[in-house]
Amino acid sequence: MKSTDTLLIVGAGTAGAELAMATRQNGWAGPIVLIGDEAPLPYQRPPLSKAYLSGVATAESLLLRPAGVYAKADVSLRLGVAVGDIDPEGRVVSLSDGTRLAYSRLALCTGGRPRPLSCDGMPADGKPSNLHYLRTRADADAIRASLLPASRLLVVGGGYIGLEVAASARALGAAVTVLEAQPRVLARVTGPDLSAFYEHVHRSAGVDIRTNAIVRGLQRDATGKSARAVVCADGTVIEVDVIVVGVGMLPNVELAAAAGLEIDAGIVVDEHAVTSNPSICAAGDCTVHRSAVYGRRIRLESVPNALEQARTAAATLCGKPRAYHPVPWFWSDQYDLKLQMVGLSDGYDGFVLRGAMQTRAFTAFYLRNGSIIAADVVNRPAEFMVAKRLVAARASIDADRLADEAVPLRELLSQPG
Ligand SMILES: Cc1cc2nc3c(=O)[nH]c(=O)nc-3n(C[C@H](O)[C@H](O)[C@H](O)COP(=O)(O)OP(=O)(O)OC[C@H]3O[C@@H](n4cnc5c(N)ncnc54)[C@H](O)[C@@H]3O)c2cc1C
Repeated sequence: MKSTDTLLIVGAGTAGAELAMATRQNGWAGPIVLIGDEAPLPYQRPPLSKAYLSGVATAESLLLRPAGVYAKADVSLRLGVAVGDIDPEGRVVSLSDGTRLAYSRLALCTGGRPRPLSCDGMPADGKPSNLHYLRTRADADAIRASLLPASRLLVVGGGYIGLEVAASARALGAAVTVLEAQPRVLARVTGPDLSAFYEHVHRSAGVDIRTNAIVRGLQRDATGKSARAVVCADGTVIEVDVIVVGVGMLPNVELAAAAGLEIDAGIVVDEHAVTSNPSICAAGDCTVHRSAVYGRRIRLESVPNALEQARTAAATLCGKPRAYHPVPWFWSDQYDLKLQMVGLSDGYDGFVLRGAMQTRAFTAFYLRNGSIIAADVVNRPAEFMVAKRLVAARASIDADRLADEAVPLRELLSQPG
């Protein structure tokens, strides 16, 4: 690495901003340019469905870092401009404003975009004006502006984002219905007990949760510009003022694909965050990596992954490689509940509950062949720290001891069995 080597980072989200700072901290001596197509300084997305949507957090508080921090680290920001093309042989990128920038090393942190809702009645050229997706601060601002007390909000999708939007909208006084196509909410990420718990919590808060509910089409109002009702596959018609769709994310891989990089439901990277082109790294939601822990390729959509993989890429770029083998973790805030999850529970054959769900503070463990593979922790942050270590160690612990609250969880770390 020479002091003239230029690092270009495409995507100024959580991963891109972290990569820029960590690369400088690791000793990158040349120019670092962080390019992002959104105009604001890099900001956090998690509050967009939580405190920011409910009006508790300000736009200022979303910023990952103040502007001065980038200046001090000599990281150049090119915001509000997209990278449209990469020439990997010439090591040049083209920006949407016509500029071409040369690079020595390139990092792709392009994140993802909401998966669009596909149903009858969607305008061919976009979406009804009262139907929203939620990925950016601008999306959250639009939803917030449209939600008045007593607005009839329909949320399509009972995943984390949909349920968080439902909770925030209830705090604003909206009448909320959630449609989930699966037989239970959070079906993709947790077991039936947690799903039942969250369905109960939302129903108690006045949310109308409907499972096995598939959206067949939209009815538009007289102007044709906004949706007045949603029609379900069973014929039910639900009149709406506002619709928020949270049915998953599509990774932004098109730029990488056009540059010839290997793609498999994400930009394929190795344990050092290097793509199939050795001079290009990638990190965050846009990537898939082979997980040594799970023995298959996985794509993680979480802040912890974006940060850690970005730090891994920074270490690689600075010639100090270290392998990244994460045990995934994530959190979700709904009402007074802080849910923290670690590990992937799919394929579990044992379930142990520590504490009672009615108390709204408990830990659910998922086991396979007697080993702990995942945990969902509600309102017990200290237990979450221990649960992370138990999952990382794939600890084998007797189910009765795991459930016994008289035995501090921490003790089980040193005395498994
Ligand atoms: C509403 C919401 C709530 C969430 N809540 C949680 C949570 O509670 N906990 C958690 O762990 N995670 C949560 N997440 C997920 C988390 O925010 C993401 O995992 C994280 O933002 C990923 O960071 P990233 O940098 O990979 O991608 P992003 O944050 O998506 O950033 C990528 C950036 O690159 C830009 N870009 C893309 N292509 C180009 C291009 N060609 N040129 C220039 N710029 C480009 C994009 O516009 C974007 O600004 C939430 C996400 C959302 C949307």
